[in-house]
Formats: sequence, structure tokens, C-alpha cells
Amino acid sequence: MSKLSKYKTANLIEVFSAIQGEGLNIGTRQIFIRFAMCDLRCHYCDSAHTWYSSDTCRIEQNPGKRDFATYPNPVTLDSLISWIRQQNQPGLHDSISLTGGEPLLHAAFLQEFLPQLHQETDLPIYLETGGHRPSQLKMILPYLDSIGMDIKLPSVSGELKWEAHQEFLQLCAEAKVEVFGKIIISEATNPQELEQAATLIAQINPQIPVFLQPVTPLASSDSKPINPPTPEQVLTWQTLMKKQIKQVRVIPQTHKMIDQL
Ligand code: SF4
Repeated sequence: MSKLSKYKTANLIEVFSAIQGEGLNIGTRQIFIRFAMCDLRCHYCDSAHTWYSSDTCRIEQNPGKRDFATYPNPVTLDSLISWIRQQNQPGLHDSISLTGGEPLLHAAFLQEFLPQLHQETDLPIYLETGGHRPSQLKMILPYLDSIGMDIKLPSVSGELKWEAHQEFLQLCAEAKVEVFGKIIISEATNPQELEQAATLIAQINPQIPVFLQPVTPLASSDSKPINPPTPEQVLTWQTLMKKQIKQVRVIPQTHKMIDQL
């Protein structure tokens, strides 16, 4: 197998068409490509089924119909292109979402896949990421139209990624690609960390939009429940962040309210 060809496969969870429930693209229709595997372990993660590679993936046969068929992993680049072609009905979608798991764990595959995807469709490519893998971002940055990156607060996520976030955001700013920050907040949020996040973003560009997302309590959790912030906390923290950031919006996960995937 040549060095290149080994990258022409990826481990997927699913491909489907749905309404984006978070961030700048909220309410728009996207083709979602959900990649398997994540190297973080956020306390509030609602996608723990994506953490490891999977033997199979499920592929929606008709956009929005939830008529999934199962295929073995890894999948080839050509198969993925053909599934996107199947989803891509004229005028239906606003963009294509690369999500996970952590899509940047598949950067080598994406480096080959995204140029072909651009030939196949003129839909914008949106990356949804933990925002902690700048080296992998560099590999695919020229092919991306917009990026939603997490800023992980240690008090809520259990992850500490300040330096990686700063480098990541700097790369986005230098490339002039559209980017926004998403910060999950709970009642246990440490406001000093919010201030640190605001400073980190403002030093790069105070115009970068930030979405404060009250945590969605997990349906079943063996560990201590993570509760959303109180209305007073939300107001206080938005005020705090707006001292440094121009646009700070508070929006929960809306796709869960309308029973989307
Ligand atoms: S980065 Fe996303 S997928 Fe990974 S553990 Fe955190 S919330 Fe879950």
C-alpha cells in the first residue's frame, strides 16, 4: 500500500442531513459527516459513542429520511464522495459539516478528501472541532470556509487546552477564515476561566463571535450530574465576557429541542 493510499480511508460514525442546532450556522440545513474517535474526555460529552473507532458506520440513503444503511469501516474516499452526492439534492443544503468525535484526527484523510469534495459541490465546508489540534488544522485550513471551535473551560469540561486554543485561533485569524468560539457553561463554571477565555479571544480579535452554551444535562449519567447555569449566572457571565468581546450570544443546543440528530 502506498503512503498516500493508506489515508484514503476514514473511520466514520454516520452521514446524514439535519438542522444545525449550535453556533453561527444555527437553523441551517447541513450534510453532517460524523467522524469516529476523540482524544478528549469532556465531562459533559453527549457523543461518547464517537470516542473510539467503530466496526461499522450508518449512512442515510435519502436526505432527512433517517433510512440508514450500515456499512463496514473504514470507508473509502470514493464511497464517501458517492454518499455526499446522494445527499446533495439541488438547493437543499446550506453547507457540509465535518463533525465527530474530533474530525482533525482524520486530517490526513481530509487533506485528500476536501479538494475532491470541492470539485463535487460548491457547498461551504464547516469544521466543528475541539479547537486543540493546530498542527492538524494547518493541513486542511485552505479547504475550510468556516470553523466552530470549542474553548474548553477546565471547571466544566475537565480539559485544559489554553495554549492549543490560542495557537488554533491565531491560525484561523491569519487565514482569515470565518471562526467562532463555543464555550459550554454549567453552574460550576469558574468565572475567572471565562475571563481568561475572553482575553485569549480578544487579544486575537474582539470581533470573533462567542457562543455561551448552557450545558444540556445528560439523559443518563453514572457520574455526578452536571447542571446548567442559573438565569442569574448566565446574565452575569455574558456581562463579564462582553467587556472584552463584541458578540457574546447565549444559545442552548436547539437541535435537541426539535428532536434532530
Ligand atoms: S471534544 Fe466533543 S466529542 Fe470529544 S469528548 Fe469533548 S464533547 Fe465529546
